[in-house]
Amino acid sequence: MAHQDQYTFQNPVTRYPSISPPKQDQPEPGLDRDLEPKSDRGEKSYRGTGRLAGRKALITGADSGIGAAVAIAFAREGADVALSYLPVEEPDAQKIVELIRDCEQKAVPLPGDISEAKAARDLVAKAVEELGGLDIIVNNAGRQIAVEQLEDLSDEQFEETFKTNVFAMFWITKAALPHLTAGATIINTTSIQAYKPSATLIDYASTKAAINNFSKGLAQQLAPRGIRVNAVAPGPIWTPLQVSDGQPKEKLPKFGKNTPLGRAGQPTELAPAYVFLASAESSYVTGETLNVNGGTPSP
Ligand code: NAD
Ligand code: MG
Repeated sequence: MAHQDQYTFQNPVTRYPSISPPKQDQPEPGLDRDLEPKSDRGEKSYRGTGRLAGRKALITGADSGIGAAVAIAFAREGADVALSYLPVEEPDAQKIVELIRDCEQKAVPLPGDISEAKAARDLVAKAVEELGGLDIIVNNAGRQIAVEQLEDLSDEQFEETFKTNVFAMFWITKAALPHLTAGATIINTTSIQAYKPSATLIDYASTKAAINNFSKGLAQQLAPRGIRVNAVAPGPIWTPLQVSDGQPKEKLPKFGKNTPLGRAGQPTELAPAYVFLASAESSYVTGETLNVNGGTPSP
C-alpha cells in the first residue's frame, strides 16, 4: 500500500490499486486483521500537522476500517482518543491503541456493545473520566448485513440495525452533550446509501438516511450553543464491514469499481474529512454532509 503522505501530489485514480477482493467470509463484526487484501488506515502514511492539538475525542467503531483511520489521524493531529468497539474486536483495537500511544497521545480502549442504552451511556461517562472531558464525538459504529428479500429480513435484524446505527448515536450524543462546550464538534458517519439505497440493504440504508436527517436537525438546534454537527458520507470503502455479510459474496470482486475513480476507497482517504470537520478550521460549516465516495454525484 502507498506510503506517500496525504499531501503528496498524486493521481487519485492510481493512488491505490483497483482491488478485486477474493470471495471471503468473516463472522460479524469482522476483523481488519483477517481482511484480504489488507486495507490502508494510514499507519505508514498519515502525516499530522497539529490540527487537533489538545483535543479529546470519542470515536465509536475505532478498532477497524474508517474509525481506525480516523483514530490514527486524530492522534497524529495531537488529540487524545477514547476508542469504542465490541469486545471480540480486541486484537484490532490493540493495534490502534499502540499506534496512538506511539504519537505520545492518550488512548483509552473502551470495549462494549453500544446497541444497549446503558452501555452507550457508560461509554460516554468512562471516556469523560479517562480523558478529563470531551470535545469531539465521532458516531461511526455501524452494522450492515445484506438480505436479498424483505420477507427474509428478520424483525430482530431490523431492530438491531436501527439500535446500532441510530439509537446508539442518539444515546451517546445525548449523554455527551452536558460535557460539550462551545467549539465542540459532533461528526456522524452516514453513507451514499442514504440517497442511493441498494436493493439488499433496506434496513441499513434507511438508518443512514436517518443519520443524515438527525445530523442536519441537531446542527440547527446546537448552532446557537457553538456546537457543530456534521456528517461524512463514504462511498465503497474497503473494510471488514463488507466481508462480514455487508455485501452479497458474488459482489466482492467488483467492489468499488463502478465509481468514477474506478476503485474502492481506502479507510485513510476518509480521515482528512473527519479532521477538517473536527477542527476549528471548519468553524462556519455545520449541518453539512461531506461526500467521500470516489465521485458518484450526490446531493
Ligand atoms: P468496520 O467494520 O471497520 O467498522 C464498524 C464498526 O462498528 C466495528 O468495527 C465495530 O466496532 C462497530 N460496531 C458495530 N456494532 C457495534 C455494537 N453493537 N457496539 C459497539 N460497536 C459496534 O467498517 P467501516 O466500513 O469502517 O464502518 C464504519 C462506518 O462507516 C459505519 O457506520 C458504516 O456504516 C460506514 N460506511 C462504510 C462504508 C464502506 O463502504 N465501508 C460506506 C459507507 C458508510
Ligand atoms: Mg471492527
